[in-house]
Amino acid sequence: MGYIERVLDRIRERDPDQPVFLQAVEEVLESLAPALDRHPELEAGGILERMVEPERVVMFRVPWVDDAGTAQVNRGFRVQFNNALGPYKGGLRFHPSVRLDIIKFLGFEQIFKNALTTRPIGGGKGGSDFDPKGKSDGEVMRFCQSFMTELHHHIGPHVDVPAGDIGVGGREIGFMYGQYKRLTRSWGGVLTGKGYTWGGSLIRPEATGYGTIYFLRDMLKDKGVDLSGKDCTISGSGNVAQFCAEKAMDLGARVVSMSDSSGSIHIPGGMSRQLLAQIMELKNERRGRIHEIAAQNDGVTYREGQRPWDIQCAVALPCATQNELSADEAQALVDNGCIAVCEGANMPCTPEAISAFHAANVAFGPAKAANAGGVATSALEMTQNATFDSWTREEVDAKLEAIMGAVYKQSAFAAQEYGDPGNIQRGANIAAFLLLSRAMLDQGVV
Ligand code: NAP
Repeated sequence: MGYIERVLDRIRERDPDQPVFLQAVEEVLESLAPALDRHPELEAGGILERMVEPERVVMFRVPWVDDAGTAQVNRGFRVQFNNALGPYKGGLRFHPSVRLDIIKFLGFEQIFKNALTTRPIGGGKGGSDFDPKGKSDGEVMRFCQSFMTELHHHIGPHVDVPAGDIGVGGREIGFMYGQYKRLTRSWGGVLTGKGYTWGGSLIRPEATGYGTIYFLRDMLKDKGVDLSGKDCTISGSGNVAQFCAEKAMDLGARVVSMSDSSGSIHIPGGMSRQLLAQIMELKNERRGRIHEIAAQNDGVTYREGQRPWDIQCAVALPCATQNELSADEAQALVDNGCIAVCEGANMPCTPEAISAFHAANVAFGPAKAANAGGVATSALEMTQNATFDSWTREEVDAKLEAIMGAVYKQSAFAAQEYGDPGNIQRGANIAAFLLLSRAMLDQGVV
C-alpha cells in the first residue's frame, strides 16, 4: 500500500464519525502523488501524518442567558491546525450545523489556503453550534461574550488570530473584541474583520468576494476569455456572495441569481446596482430572507427550496456552504454551457461535481486558492495593527489584487510543473503543500 493510502486508511479508522473532514483530506492527499514521488524526504519526515493531525483541539461549554431569562448552552470549538508558517489564522463559524467534523475540515483547508497567500499565517478554525438567526442583538452579545470568556485563553496576536465566517460578521466580531479587551486589558490585533475606526482594515469585508473574482478573471484570461458580458450564477447572499456580485458587475459580468438556505432568486436580465444595495440592506441590516427581494421587484422570481445551478450561465460561483453543488447539478451546468466555476465558499462542490467539471474541460478555481483573498486581507489587517498604521482602500485593494494574481500563478505553475497543466486544483494543492512541508521539515518533528 502506498504512503497516501496508508495515511488515509489511518484517518478512516480513527475518525469514522468525521466524513466531511475525511472528504477534505482525500481531496488534498489524492492530488499529491507527483509531489511525493519527487520529494521522498517528505515521507521520511512523516509530513502527511503530521499535517492531517491538528496541533490542538479546544472544545468548550458556552452558557448564556436568553431574553426570556432562560439559561442556554452551546458548544464552542477552536481547532489549531498548524502554525509552521505563522500564528494560527482562520474564521469562526456560528451555525447550528457546526460540529468537530466541520471545524476540522475547515481548519485543514485553511492551512493550505494560508500558505498560498505567502503571508506569515498558520491555519486554524473555530465556531459554535449557536444560531444567530432570529436572536436579538442582546442575545448575540451575551453569547459572544461567553464564547470569548473561554476563547481568550487560547488566542493572542502572536498565537492565534480568529476572524469571521458563516454567521460571524462585523456585529459578532465587535462583541467578541470588546470582551477580549475587557478580559485581557490589552488592545491588539487579536481578531480581524474589526470596524474601520477600531483597528479594522478597509476592503476586509469585500476581500473574499473581490479576490474570488480577481482569481476568476485571471483564470479566464489564461483561456483567452473575458469575463465582461458573461452571465454568472451566484449562490448565497452573505458576505462572500455580495462582494462577488459587486466585483463581477464592476468587471462587466451579469449576475443572474442569489440564494439563501430557503431558496434562490432568478434575475434573468442581470442584477442592477440598486438591487444589490437592496440585498445588502436586507441581509446585513434587517437580517431578512431572500424571497422578500422577489416580492419587492418585478422581473425577479423566487424559487423556494431550489439552488441556482439549473439556471443558464457561463460562470458559476458557489458562495454559500460546503457540498452545495452535486454531480447532477454540475452536469446541468455543463449541459447549459457553463465554462468556468470558481469556489467562493469552502468546499462547495462535491468531489463528483469537480470530476464532472474536469471531464467537460470547465475551468475550475478551487476554494483554497480562489477564496484566499479574505484571509490574505486579514493578514494585511494584522500588519496594519502591528505597525499602528492604516492604509487607504486603494492601497489594500492593490495588494489584494497582487496577492490573488500570485496565488493563481503559483497554482497554474505547479500544475504545469507536476505534469497536469491547467488543473488548478492539483496545482494549488501541490504548491501549498510544498510551502508548508518545507517549513515543517526545517522545524523538526514537532
Ligand atoms: P455569511 O455571510 O453568513 O453568508 C452565508 C450565506 O450562505 C447565506 O446566504 C446563508 O443563507 C447561506 N447558507 C449558509 N448555510 C447554508 C446551507 N446549509 N445551505 C444553503 N445556504 C446556506 O457567510 P460568508 O462569510 O459569506 O461565508 C460563505 C462561505 O464562504 C462559507 O463557506 C465560508 O466558509 C466561506 N468563506 C468565507 C470567508 C469570509 O471572509 N467571510 C472567507 C473564505 C471563505 P442563510 O442566511 O439562509 O443561512
